[in-house]
Amino acid sequence: MTDRSWTELDVIQLFRAYRQPENRSLAAGIGDDCAVFTPSEKREYLVTADMLVEQVHFDFSFHPPYFLGRKSMAVNLSDIAAMGGKPEFALLSLAIPDKVDHLWLKEFAEGVHSILQEFHCGLIGGDTVGADSLTIGVTVIGSAPRNEAVMRTGARPGDSVYVSGPVGSAAVGLAMCQNQEQFGPMERLVDNPFVQQHLNPSPEISCGRILAASGMVTSMQDLSDGLATDLAHICRASNVGAIVQADLLPGLPGLDSACRQLNASVEELQVSGGEDYRLVFTVAKGQDNGFADYVSQNSSLELYRIGSIVKSPGVFLVSGETKRDISFQGYTHSGERSPS
Ligand code: ADP
Ligand code: MG
Repeated sequence: MTDRSWTELDVIQLFRAYRQPENRSLAAGIGDDCAVFTPSEKREYLVTADMLVEQVHFDFSFHPPYFLGRKSMAVNLSDIAAMGGKPEFALLSLAIPDKVDHLWLKEFAEGVHSILQEFHCGLIGGDTVGADSLTIGVTVIGSAPRNEAVMRTGARPGDSVYVSGPVGSAAVGLAMCQNQEQFGPMERLVDNPFVQQHLNPSPEISCGRILAASGMVTSMQDLSDGLATDLAHICRASNVGAIVQADLLPGLPGLDSACRQLNASVEELQVSGGEDYRLVFTVAKGQDNGFADYVSQNSSLELYRIGSIVKSPGVFLVSGETKRDISFQGYTHSGERSPS
């Protein structure tokens, strides 16, 4: 016997109790050996998995369970957004230590449910085990009209580089949470926009759909490891390079003063800070005006042109008179600074 306040069946019941969004292609969800759905012939399917490990991806001591539930799903939904897809189904696998109690799980489940509801995504299965530390594994299945999914491989010299929103916010928020003596207790910090960006990022599903449907976006990816690394992924996959203008990088209001308080460089945080879950993408050469028209006619999105794609490899940041290589200088979850 353990002193746990939950059993495997309790946990499954917690998640199963929520009403699922209507999806006629689903024949069986939680409760059988497998979930069963019938794919549409007109669409292609996008499948992604992301794992969140305690102390590597989140801090159990300050991440409220409701927001952790939302973020576990958000980081996966963001990968669907980055292909221009719409989410359909999610699976949730939990390795749960004894310190996690029933109330914590209930709030976590509320968070999971709230974001899945928001994006019309059904929870159709998962797995539940006891373990020494908390690990959250999520799989999301999404779909897009045939041949519309946007890959990382399509950027060409002359294309423009854009981001879909402010960058560097989540890194500032994380630093605030880690310095509560300076910035105040979590109860107060939780509503701060930088802190929200770290605890509760929002996947850019509708933005990704509009970009993919425009037919002018040549490559796309979400910003999980920081602009320096994520844009380098696009460049490597497309066999090109990029030049980014530091003064074109959008930031949340208050970014400069927050960085001063943290004794951190704004520029460094904006290119290297991870987990903003915005989209970075390229627009075909010569199509910036047509693209701007398309976007303003079909949405109220604010998109930011930050640079351009060039022939020679590497991601370079131009700041005043200086130009430096920032390829793969983003955040990693495994200790090293550049991928092998
Ligand atoms: P099995 O022994 O076949 O793996 P389980 O007892 O692990 O079945 O799970 C029973 C049902 O509950 C399955 O439909 C499974 O997908 C679902 N399930 C288990 N854990 C979770 C979870 N954390 N979230 C959602 N569904 C879950
Ligand atoms: Mg199982």
